[in-house]
Amino acid sequence: VFQTRDLRKHFGGVRAVDGVSIAVRQGEFRAIIGPNGAGKSTFFNLVTGLLECDLGRVFFQGQDITGTPPHVLYRKRISRTFQITSIFSDLTVQENVQVALLSHDRRTLDLLGRAKTMALRRARELLERVGLEAEWSRTAGVLSHGDQKRLELAVALANDPRLLFLDEPTAGMAAQERFRSIQLIHGIAKELGLTVVFTEHDME
Ligand code: ADP
Ligand code: MG
Repeated sequence: VFQTRDLRKHFGGVRAVDGVSIAVRQGEFRAIIGPNGAGKSTFFNLVTGLLECDLGRVFFQGQDITGTPPHVLYRKRISRTFQITSIFSDLTVQENVQVALLSHDRRTLDLLGRAKTMALRRARELLERVGLEAEWSRTAGVLSHGDQKRLELAVALANDPRLLFLDEPTAGMAAQERFRSIQLIHGIAKELGLTVVFTEHDME
């Protein structure tokens, strides 16, 4: 479902990504593990269109998607989360997911006015999936770090992704919470038949 061939990105003398070839099959749950600075986020930024590759190709379902911009990849149902959590901190937990659902349905111009009533049921379902249903009315910015990560996951799932990239989904969590979070994500991936690639810096 996903493949890279000889992917390269250098920043001056820094060989952040230097000839990476990987292949991921439908429904696989794979990790890219390496210490800080290994090039994991750069790799994600290359395959999700945020950075231009120096060299190499990226394939999704056999189709060459090298250099395709992020919003087009999103329409192909490739979702991602960021190492530094990317949510709307001033909106409520539920509104964050509603906005993502509206965007998936190409109704972004309706955003906040109508978001209050639209996509409610689906938003609640997604929040339940990630274990945040009780927090739906809270302002996203006040959630704990781990809960913000789970919210970002719900937002990524709103696109009904075929391929999901999670950049350090357990960043900043304590060991116990890290383990639970990965179990949660793994359970969701299995249930939805998702193909997931995530990064982790903890070599252990
Ligand atoms: P990881 O996610 O594995 O911690 P990164 O992909 O963030 O690693 O970084 C890999 C290397 O590339 C690091 O040495 C980092 O400083 C460098 N780097 C990342 N992004 C840039 C950039 N935009 N400009 C210059 N150097 C960068
Ligand atoms: Mg990183």
